[in-house]
Amino acid sequence: MTYDVIIVGAGNAALAAAVSAKENGAEKVLVLEKAPREMRGGNTHWSGGVLRFAFDDPHELGPLLPGVEDEYEDFYSGIQPYTREDFHGDLMRVTSGQTDPVLSRVLVDNSRDTVFWMNEVGAVEMEPAITLTGVRRENRIVWARGLVVRAAHEGVGLSRSWFATVERLGIEVRYGASVMALLQDDRGHVCGVRVRDDAGMSNIDGRAVVLGCGGFEANVQMRTQHIGPLVGAAKVRGTPHNQGDGLRMAMAIGAMPWGQWSGCHATPISADWGNFAPRELTDRSNRLSYLYGVMINRLGRRFVNEGEDGAMFTYAKYGRAILAEPGAKAYQIFDSQVVHLLEPRYSTSDPIVADTLEELVEQLDIDDKKQALRTLVEYNAAAKHASDGFEPSAKDGLSTTGLALEKTNWATKLEAPPYYAYSATGGITFTFGGLKVDEQARVIGTDWRPIPGLLACGEMIGGLFYDNYPAGTGLVSGATFGRIAGRSAARHPANSPVAEAVSA
Ligand SMILES: Cc1cc2nc3c(=O)[nH]c(=O)nc-3n(C[C@H](O)[C@H](O)[C@H](O)COP(=O)(O)OP(=O)(O)OC[C@H]3O[C@@H](n4cnc5c(N)ncnc54)[C@H](O)[C@@H]3O)c2cc1C
Repeated sequence: MTYDVIIVGAGNAALAAAVSAKENGAEKVLVLEKAPREMRGGNTHWSGGVLRFAFDDPHELGPLLPGVEDEYEDFYSGIQPYTREDFHGDLMRVTSGQTDPVLSRVLVDNSRDTVFWMNEVGAVEMEPAITLTGVRRENRIVWARGLVVRAAHEGVGLSRSWFATVERLGIEVRYGASVMALLQDDRGHVCGVRVRDDAGMSNIDGRAVVLGCGGFEANVQMRTQHIGPLVGAAKVRGTPHNQGDGLRMAMAIGAMPWGQWSGCHATPISADWGNFAPRELTDRSNRLSYLYGVMINRLGRRFVNEGEDGAMFTYAKYGRAILAEPGAKAYQIFDSQVVHLLEPRYSTSDPIVADTLEELVEQLDIDDKKQALRTLVEYNAAAKHASDGFEPSAKDGLSTTGLALEKTNWATKLEAPPYYAYSATGGITFTFGGLKVDEQARVIGTDWRPIPGLLACGEMIGGLFYDNYPAGTGLVSGATFGRIAGRSAARHPANSPVAEAVSA
């Protein structure tokens, strides 16, 4: 049998592509997932499910969040509009202007529509992203700009919803089916895949193939080769199955690598976690409240401006910053006046606690404790009191003065005992390097022409992110380009009635 569309992978991007292919007229759609059923869902399962998208008026979110005003008093007053220009500006700012001009526009301009499509067609229920992006100010919640909504029950719920929709639409999913290679006909059209499963090796024919099988974040060799030995040794925050297979098989038939292959999304996570995050604890390893405290390395020194920006704009690069420090380890130190602001994920490990900074430092696993204490004392001398204008929900401009490395926001003194220290290392989330695609998600070859019949989406697309990443963009990008890829695959000339007639 020849499938109309074969989808490789079963994360957010791939399943968006499967649903879109069906919606756009493909009858026989096959999803091939390398992981066994109980490990299905890729990084999407591990994710926080947060969705960044543009909207002009907060009330536009209403249809996504039925009943929200009963749950949150004065809900809309805590939300600022987040226009396309705001979203694109954030992408440009955090990537130092390097984001692909065409793809970033496709992402931003489709972002709102994509999320509504996920909700309406994908049957993905939504909820306010309270634990991650909401900060209480008096009687109401103030929400981070552009980051108000997430999939209900986070990545677990998102993944579960996509599979339910795929099954409802009668789309066939095969688990434990590892795609090893792409098949091409004599004209160079991609016409199927070679698969390894429990039965051995076999070929499956398809008129178009969509690659949605992730980056190379779980592949130690590729991490080391492309990003460097420090990231090679990083702990993996998501699925162990994203090994760069799709990138390698596409490049083997002439696809063009694109974007920052030396770059990745890596966040501060607890140093106590293993090399791969447990599936049931999903993203609970994150330690992203460093902006309210101070981070020191094993030499007892600060090494980043913890208050450079909101965590959602710095977390994706500060994990990598920790990996570059001795032993790839740091401590995040807080006092009692801010500890209630730590996001709930901190509860998955026990902090070191002491009544004085001296006693706290004494308990840390670091090489230069004297320097650590000096650093904290100097920091305290340069920092401000909370009463000087500390405002946790916005950049408050409360800066240290006189340090070689200033902390430029939320720089309150560590002055209220007891004091808390949480360990941190860098955990890799996904890789920035990928394939070159056009605005129809067609994979471009090294001859600068589309490879007929080959589409890509999700983490496999290169060029959107460089050095850094605005939180909540991966899933919206995945669904946006997945939806486009599914449509392009369904409408691929080989799937048109004319082609049917010719081949018959
Ligand atoms: C802990 C964590 C938290 C995150 N939180 C957020 C968040 O809140 N918001 C956000 O926007 N983003 C978040 N992200 C990023 C987001 O999860 C990813 O951008 C997104 O899930 C990628 O989707 P994808 O479909 O491209 O890949 P994946 O969801 O990883 O799916 C790829 C699939 O391909 C399969 N596969 C791989 N190789 C093969 C092969 N050879 N044959 C067949 N199948 C194959 C894999 O098994 C996997 O199922 C987070 C990521 C992690 C790890």
